[in-house]
Amino acid sequence: MAESYDFRSVEQRWQERWEREGTYRAANDDPRQKYYMLEMLPYPSGDLHVGHAKNYTLGDAIARTMRMRGYNVLHPMGWDAFGLPAENAAIQRGIDPATWTRSNIANMQRQVRLMGTSYDWSREIATCDPEYYRWNQWLFLRLYEASLAYKKEAPVNWCPQDQTVLANEQVIDGACWRCGHAVERRNLSQWFLKITAYAERLLADLEGLDGWPERTRTMQRNWIGRSEGVQFSFAVDGIASHLDVFTTRVDTLYGVTFLAIAPEHPIVAALRGIISKKNAAAIEKFAEGLTSKSDLERTSLMEKDGLFTGAYAVNPLSHERIPIWVTNYVLAEYGTGAVMGVPAHDERDFDFAKKHALPIARVIVAPGEEAEAPLTRAYVEDGRLIASGDYTGMSSERARTMIADRLNAMGIGTTRVNFRFRDWLVSRQRYWGTPIPIVYCEQCGEVPAPDDQLPILLPANVPITGEGSPLARDPAFMTTTCPRCGGPARRESDTLDTFFESSWYYLRYLDPHNTSAPWAQSLAAKWMNVDQYVGGSEHAVLHLLYSRFFYKFFHDRGWVSGAQEPFQRLFHQGMVLANGEKMSKSRGNVIGVDETAETNGVDAMRLFLLCVTPPEDTSDWTDEGINGRVRFLNRVWRACEPSLERARAISVRTLPPVSNAEEKALVRAVHIVAKSTIDEVTSCRFHFNTTIAKLDELVNAMTGSAQRMPDSPALHYAIATLPLLLAPYAPHVAEELWERLGHSTSVHLERLLEPDERALALDEITLVVQVNGKIRARIPVAPGISEEHAVALAHADVNVQSQLDGKEVRKRIFVPDKLLNIVVS
Ligand SMILES: [Zn+2]
Ligand SMILES: [Zn+2]
Repeated sequence: MAESYDFRSVEQRWQERWEREGTYRAANDDPRQKYYMLEMLPYPSGDLHVGHAKNYTLGDAIARTMRMRGYNVLHPMGWDAFGLPAENAAIQRGIDPATWTRSNIANMQRQVRLMGTSYDWSREIATCDPEYYRWNQWLFLRLYEASLAYKKEAPVNWCPQDQTVLANEQVIDGACWRCGHAVERRNLSQWFLKITAYAERLLADLEGLDGWPERTRTMQRNWIGRSEGVQFSFAVDGIASHLDVFTTRVDTLYGVTFLAIAPEHPIVAALRGIISKKNAAAIEKFAEGLTSKSDLERTSLMEKDGLFTGAYAVNPLSHERIPIWVTNYVLAEYGTGAVMGVPAHDERDFDFAKKHALPIARVIVAPGEEAEAPLTRAYVEDGRLIASGDYTGMSSERARTMIADRLNAMGIGTTRVNFRFRDWLVSRQRYWGTPIPIVYCEQCGEVPAPDDQLPILLPANVPITGEGSPLARDPAFMTTTCPRCGGPARRESDTLDTFFESSWYYLRYLDPHNTSAPWAQSLAAKWMNVDQYVGGSEHAVLHLLYSRFFYKFFHDRGWVSGAQEPFQRLFHQGMVLANGEKMSKSRGNVIGVDETAETNGVDAMRLFLLCVTPPEDTSDWTDEGINGRVRFLNRVWRACEPSLERARAISVRTLPPVSNAEEKALVRAVHIVAKSTIDEVTSCRFHFNTTIAKLDELVNAMTGSAQRMPDSPALHYAIATLPLLLAPYAPHVAEELWERLGHSTSVHLERLLEPDERALALDEITLVVQVNGKIRARIPVAPGISEEHAVALAHADVNVQSQLDGKEVRKRIFVPDKLLNIVVS
């Protein structure tokens, strides 16, 4: 009776040994081709469940496969350790954020190791370490010097729950991305990064990212929101000020029947001189009602509303007087804060005009259309112009050029490109983050901290109450001297958005202990860019956009070279449900990594996470499913264990002799698995679920053969090669079998089994190879083999090689499925 598989002792033993021997260390001076495999670094929230495990298991299977394909694989891990949950724990439970974070990191690091992942722990980082955030501050100062970091007062998103501002990208459907509370607007002086300076490049370079999910590229394109149009000004009756508008549809200029402006538009103050007191008071009241409304509420959720100011603008071409309205849906910070209203050709304007009984003037008709029945909805397509002065009869496209030229000639308009996205707001009024390295001096104003004062340490023992900025209440931190004049100064009390840290962490892994630079350029040149990135799709326009911006800045500074994009390929893994339901603490259905490892074993967990669906799909964790994987590993053990001694003599790099159909089928099953693994990584599909299904078939076949033909060399070959096939997915059992097969070095540093076409062939025919008409070889091949493939096999044959050596091939005669004759001189 075979001994049963004891996963607990096997898994623990190998994890300790891999760690002790540094099996997965990536050497910077390794001359082999590099492969940088990265999973998005986790936030240390406490405990890992099988949803997290799916992400790391997928990344690990890819890393292990690439390592076994002969690449020098860099596969690091670290912690996105600053941020609000630590501070909220401090508020709710009185725990120091640093203590909370450190203990969570320790626990999660233990759990990530428990999953048998092949990380190079010598490169581990935590973004809350002063050695890390020192370089965060250093990078902020470089952005500041390049005028890409600036402070300005602006209406910003405020989360009342988290008591801090948020970037536009962190407001999801009008709510805070972290806590879900409705976001308000406040006018505050905040730090911004000028990501919009990179708008064109961020957009254009998306084209080259064909290894990214198309959906994610589209989301970034839409978020950046490029539009080409004309910006021009309307004169305002009775005052000297102009109203600027931007439009992509200047061909509809004769159809403008109102101008819509934001109530915060600066022209409102100038209008007070020419409008009635009653109107002025009404506008003020209207504006007050909107101050705390978020962008989303104003542009999407609220009903479109407005108020006639009593003032008029003048259409620069038709000279018509156009009423000026303040509206809730035009935002001061987007575009010019004023929009021309063309009800006949814009849906929103159409609704607004209907509601407020404004005229609807049709100026575009569909090609071939003459009828001018009243519109029941806006006609938004291009067409032919009507009722448009000199431009009547032109196509929309031509009219756009002609009218733009005219406005340009009049000196009131220019063609330009607009972007929808705004600069990135990076200051936060919270404690647990990187202090912004700026001081304020009464004499000198805003002064950057000198590099030699970095890191500006986050002070310990600051009372955290959840109200106001904790750092601002710490006089020891706030009081400093001006680096420029030596006079009294105070520090910036805001900290950086944690997305600042995560925008460059992938470079710190290359050189985690560097004390003179965030990373050495030579190491960036060696390792970048990331070959395969794996993480959640929720970061499509957050982390993934910010990182691309940073990387382009680094490229401009010469700190990185090669590709201008940090992540060559990107994969979003699907989530894991528990018995059909979303896992949550409140439901009490979270499947933890610890319990699963203890009950079922890590290899079973890994196999199940990989086999249940393609990795991009949502998968469902079921008891039945995980038990199936436990049984699979027991079958593996039972099929191999009794014959391990005899399989020791087998060479895994040579096909065994086969003497019957069962043996042939068994060897073929081995190579089907080998081929599937390579296919899934070379195609970057990573559908290891199909590979594991083939592993199931192989192990079933081995189980049968072990009964029927225990002495078969084909069975012993399958046993000898199985660890190579299992290694990326079930690394512990693979290593255990490998050792018991008599190997003294790790299976994870071996080469994968190369799929052999001869083994894969369903049937074989014998191809006769002649050199100058003399038979030199008989090669078993698949029927229908191509000439090219036959030539390659012939040239690989030792006997043929010796006949060809040093001679020139003059001619080849190929008779399909029969003969290859090579004529040499
Ligand atoms: Zn919030
Ligand atoms: Zn000063």
